[in-house]
Amino acid sequence: MTTTLLLLRDDLRIDDNPALDRAVSRGDVLCVYLDDDATVPPGGAARWWLSGALRSLDEAFTAKKGVLRVLKGATPERIRELAALIGADEVVWNGGRTPAQLDSDSAIIKELKSNKIARSVLDPNNLYPWGSADKDDGEPRRVFTAFKKACYKGGDPEDPIDAPKTIHAPKLDDTKLSKADTIKVGDYSIKPDHPWTSTLEDHWTPTLDEGHRFAKRFLEKHIHGYDDTRNDLDPIGSSMLSPWLRFGQLSIRRLWARSLDADTTKGGEVYRSELMWREFSSHMLVAFPHSETRPIHDKFAKFPWKDSDPGFEKWTKGKTGYPIVDAAMRHLWATGFMPNRARMIVASVLTKHMLIPWTRGAQWFMDTLVDADLPNNTMGWQWTAGCGLDAAPYFRIFNPITQGSKFDPKGDYVRRWVPELKDRDDKVIHEPVSPIEAQSLGYPTPIIEHKEARDRALEAYEAIK
Ligand SMILES: Cc1cc2nc3c(=O)[nH]c(=O)nc-3n(C[C@H](O)[C@H](O)[C@H](O)COP(=O)(O)OP(=O)(O)OC[C@H]3O[C@@H](n4cnc5c(N)ncnc54)[C@H](O)[C@@H]3O)c2cc1C
Repeated sequence: MTTTLLLLRDDLRIDDNPALDRAVSRGDVLCVYLDDDATVPPGGAARWWLSGALRSLDEAFTAKKGVLRVLKGATPERIRELAALIGADEVVWNGGRTPAQLDSDSAIIKELKSNKIARSVLDPNNLYPWGSADKDDGEPRRVFTAFKKACYKGGDPEDPIDAPKTIHAPKLDDTKLSKADTIKVGDYSIKPDHPWTSTLEDHWTPTLDEGHRFAKRFLEKHIHGYDDTRNDLDPIGSSMLSPWLRFGQLSIRRLWARSLDADTTKGGEVYRSELMWREFSSHMLVAFPHSETRPIHDKFAKFPWKDSDPGFEKWTKGKTGYPIVDAAMRHLWATGFMPNRARMIVASVLTKHMLIPWTRGAQWFMDTLVDADLPNNTMGWQWTAGCGLDAAPYFRIFNPITQGSKFDPKGDYVRRWVPELKDRDDKVIHEPVSPIEAQSLGYPTPIIEHKEARDRALEAYEAIK
């Protein structure tokens, strides 16, 4: 009987998991989650989610007689030592989705190779293999529609594979395993100490079952109208599946296939196009690894930002005086989530009205979103700030008042998250308050008036044009 060491990162599922499938088909499997900087998310909300996701996966493994442990400080050497300790003749994993994970893949491969241990690195939780949309000269496609078209030209993504029926664990000596720095999932403490994450429990259950339940409900009831509802803020009109996708609890290929079964009309088409934005973000971050911190368009390196700590704090706390922005930022703080339309509005206000660098906003999102995902977040911020690939042109500056009226016409979203404004009339709910109202309502006047902000942003843009 052969033994395989299976490494897990952002693929915390049993269904359609190519590495697990391969490992199970070979014989006994020990599965470890890699605790290292390339894998464990830095942000509080995402760590809270990860903690629940690992516990849920542990239960799913146990139900199939498998064993899941966490490998602390998972350096390539520790991985090699663990493989030797359990007598594994192959190490298998799904490859990384971020530049840091891909670097870590290379280091692990090198270590195993030089110690003559076989390894299989399979595709990550993406729809298409790396390079699928590259131009003939090998250059990546930088425009979303061209990228999508090139992927579609290659046909549908590969079919998902079914979950294994049982997972055979090797006979393991617990003491030896502990000496190798593996710990039981129940003993793994990853949740942040900060009490704010406790409110996340009121809004989410980060388990595999709940992810499948959300997906089922969306595919049965909501996908058909997704093209109409996806920008709705209250009730939220999108799938809210992003955290389960982020941690690979849901397979993107399974979701794709099930969405095709559920809807081939406009709703399904637009939904799959959004899934392709995830794909685009993922391929682009790998093609442009520096984009996590540096603008894709070089001219933005000289952009005259006006960074301000007090301004940034007002934004994070939902005290900008723009009701839609404040509702969204408080929504984020309380639940670890914000709909895409709201993400675009708050990112636009931070970078264009306030002229605060997009990287600060991106870091805040990485800390507070339960779906904090480096590729999607980098793309979203660079896109909104106007400095990224296929981005919104810088000179198109969202008006937070008209955006609010358009996407939250009755003000339900604002009333839910900004109770100071709950008695305001629908007609003015998105308007800034006057200084007198500010006093009586206990809600601030805007950080900067919209027209003045717009003129100032355009002037700043002129400086780098
Ligand atoms: C400034 C900014 C920051 C963002 N940060 C993140 C992030 O950290 N993590 C994250 O998962 N998404 C991020 N997004 C993308 C998008 O906002 C979320 O994926 C989406 O709101 C999640 O909600 P949903 O699952 O209901 O989406 P749905 O509308 O149901 O879309 C289905 C899936 O498609 C993908 N998707 C949808 N829109 C986008 C998009 N614009 N870019 C990339 N993928 C997309 C997501 O995986 C999503 O779950 C960001 C967008 C912006 C503008």
